[in-house]
Amino acid sequence: MSIASNIATFRHGVHPEEYKGLTESKPIERMPFASELVLPLGQHIGAPARAIVVKGDRVQRGQMIGEPTGFVSVALHSPVDGTVLGIELSETITGAMVPAIRIQTDPYSPQLLRTELPPVPEALTTPEFIQSIQNAGIVGLGGAAFPAHVKFAIPEGKTCSYLVLNGCECEPFLTSDHRTMVEEADAILDGTMILNSFVKASKVYIGIEANKPDAIQILRDRISADKLPIEVISLQVKYPQGAEKMLITAIEKLEVPSGNLPIDLEFMVSNVSTIGAISHWFRKGMPLIERVVTISGSAINRPANVRIPIGTPMKDVVEFCGGINSRDLSSVRMLLGGPMMGMVQKTLNTPVVKGTSGMLFLEQEHVSSLDQYNCIKCGKCVEACPMFLNPSILGILAKKGLWADMEDHHVLDCFECGSCSFICPSGIPLVQSFRVAKGIIRERNSKK
Ligand code: SF4
Ligand code: SF4
Repeated sequence: MSIASNIATFRHGVHPEEYKGLTESKPIERMPFASELVLPLGQHIGAPARAIVVKGDRVQRGQMIGEPTGFVSVALHSPVDGTVLGIELSETITGAMVPAIRIQTDPYSPQLLRTELPPVPEALTTPEFIQSIQNAGIVGLGGAAFPAHVKFAIPEGKTCSYLVLNGCECEPFLTSDHRTMVEEADAILDGTMILNSFVKASKVYIGIEANKPDAIQILRDRISADKLPIEVISLQVKYPQGAEKMLITAIEKLEVPSGNLPIDLEFMVSNVSTIGAISHWFRKGMPLIERVVTISGSAINRPANVRIPIGTPMKDVVEFCGGINSRDLSSVRMLLGGPMMGMVQKTLNTPVVKGTSGMLFLEQEHVSSLDQYNCIKCGKCVEACPMFLNPSILGILAKKGLWADMEDHHVLDCFECGSCSFICPSGIPLVQSFRVAKGIIRERNSKK
């Protein structure tokens, strides 16, 4: 094993206050099973799963209840032994109502996992491995919920020379990946070796921000003890260090050109917890039915890292964490995800889904003012943008609805990290307007 001692990074970016001290040393707790779970069929990028259960069916913990409906789609499993109450519209993170399977948990069940193990990975061909990951319902756990098997399926004519595990967790407040690296290092390394036996990268890295020294040390010790061909890279603490393209730049000093994917440069990047899920699937037969979520913010009584069954409503999680400490709930900003890229929630009925990395409850002092002023041409957003875009000009074009001009100024390269909005002294909601513009441009282009 070689150990990199440099503190690598990318150009631009911002330094928001971390607030990770609230939970970074708190061991992962297990959330009890809620009485009712709500499982949206479309909780990943791509086509929603198709329900294969109906109202009244008895289901077992780990049983498939939704099947993939195409290549960019994954299976859905029941996180509990229970009874299907129906397939109904339910709130989701974006505020849209989507079809979801409601399950009533069996209060008398020991909730043992179905013990049907998948085949040993060594006995699988690469296409069988890819299909097995799809059937396990595994998606990127960093927040995007992109189907993992799609990323792991290397397109014909391409090669993966570099496998990079993303342990940056650069969003403020979030510590679920951090605790997973500390407490489940063996599963992460096992999942890495399983994945790399198929993708066959010649270099395997784990990139971790330097503010997680315990995770860096534990992984290095295990790698050294088992003589694994994996290198842990300590990265500068800077947002958005965990974005795929920034991570590649930091580790190998390569910039992924506009319009290209990491695999075009022979890179595959995957979040550490996603890789841990591969090990849980092949060694324990556990599909993706639960995940670690950071519950944090000044308005929650007991900040914690909690392993939560998918489908658990936010209100049950809040209760488990001691409730909200503000009498005026309307003054608390509730977010799913981190404060930079997360989504504001209006209700506590929204369930935890596969992409839920954090649940934040912020009082006014942590919430940016809604006051907006004119652009003062300070250039701070240009200095912050890791994609070297000009958010100031894009903001002006967005205000005028000049979508074609925005496309000419490469708005589609914006990956909505929020650094420009964070740094803007005029409080201009830049990233929000870019999100809208990208949707309009994509729709127009697809019609063309
Ligand atoms: S323009 Fe997009 S990529 Fe650049 S800082 Fe703003 S949100 Fe991030
Ligand atoms: S940071 Fe805000 S005020 Fe400064 S140039 Fe960018 S948009 Fe204008």
